Amino acid sequence: MDTYSNFKKYLQDELSDIKSAGLYKNERIITSPQGAVIKVSTGQEVLNFCANNYLGLSDNKELIEAAKEAMDSRGFGMSSVRFICGTQDLHKQLEAAIANYFGTEDTILYAACFDANGGVFEPLLTDQDAIISDSLNHASIIDGVRLCKAVRYRYANADMEDLEKQLQKAQSQRFRLIVTDGVFSMDGNVAPLDKIYELANKYNAMIMVDESHSAGVVGKTGRGTTELFDLKGQIEIITGTLGKAFGGAIGGFTTGKKEIIDMLRQRSRPYLFSNSIPPAIAAAGIRMFEMMDRTNELQDKLHANTDYFVTKMQEAGFDIKPTQSSICAVMLYDAKLSQDMAARMLDEGIYVTGFYYPVVPKDLARIRVQISAGHKTEHLDKCIAAFTKTGKELGVIK
Ligand SMILES: *Cc1c(COP(=O)(O)O)cnc(C)c1O
Repeated sequence: MDTYSNFKKYLQDELSDIKSAGLYKNERIITSPQGAVIKVSTGQEVLNFCANNYLGLSDNKELIEAAKEAMDSRGFGMSSVRFICGTQDLHKQLEAAIANYFGTEDTILYAACFDANGGVFEPLLTDQDAIISDSLNHASIIDGVRLCKAVRYRYANADMEDLEKQLQKAQSQRFRLIVTDGVFSMDGNVAPLDKIYELANKYNAMIMVDESHSAGVVGKTGRGTTELFDLKGQIEIITGTLGKAFGGAIGGFTTGKKEIIDMLRQRSRPYLFSNSIPPAIAAAGIRMFEMMDRTNELQDKLHANTDYFVTKMQEAGFDIKPTQSSICAVMLYDAKLSQDMAARMLDEGIYVTGFYYPVVPKDLARIRVQISAGHKTEHLDKCIAAFTKTGKELGVIK
């Protein structure tokens, strides 16, 4: 047998293992724009409760207009990395808008937050330094940390006693960087940044927060966890994405202290060796941050929607994890139940996703609901009614 037929057999076996473990991922085909109401390829129209479209901007007319105008005035693509000939005025304006939004000193753009996290550690820290990382941090942080030679410490999710222990262990290193997601995507809990900040001061450490699920969402005006904990401008490094609340297209960023951003421009590999984001994306991003400066309407709507949903679901008898974001984990505990319930919800016209081990701990299966400012009260009511109906049918509630 030739090499490929051996490899093919190996992959086929692995893939069938994934399938028999029930972990094989299929894509659902959407034939409409992303939104609160979407059309899927079967022709069915469903209400979408599993997008990261927290502000409902994925199909926003003003952003689409800004993108179209930029295509006419600045072209389609950059065909270059930033430091060769891939920087337009738009890229600089967007970087400034992001720094302004978060109250930071400077910003560097990436193609995605996955790249921002992949390229943030290795240029800044060496084997003399320490990274102290939350156990539930995003995969891109884990990968980024792997690319760096710093000594690694891990603390249990949002566990401040454990963080303190790890900081004590890390005292012999030169510099210490605590790294955390702002909002953890499976539970919707917020990192206790106030306590992390106290410990960082006590043990002489810097902080990095990944605001991907919190930017635009958390805090009265959506400025993220640094707003929620009154720490704007106090955190050394913030990473985030333009691919969630901020329009949902593509793009990531690192924002924070001037010298840190400057060093990333010199040495961060996903920045140096990967293409610039297209003009249309940059222009829509600038327009989006103008919108954020102009009005707090979308945050107000999002927060009201989330409160409404959580309250009604609790009244219906569901067990909802305490959330400080717009992620609501409806706890079902049993893996099969989470899949059965998600399937029945789809029959009711509600698109939600069930998560179970290994994505969440064993016996903590759940349906994760993501609330959006784009949801109307009638959408929320329909979702709650579908949960109540299927929940009764499956014996989840009485
Ligand atoms: C979604 C997400 C990312 C990746 O963002 P992209 O811009 O889609 O690459 C990184 N970190 C966290 C915490 C995320 O939730």
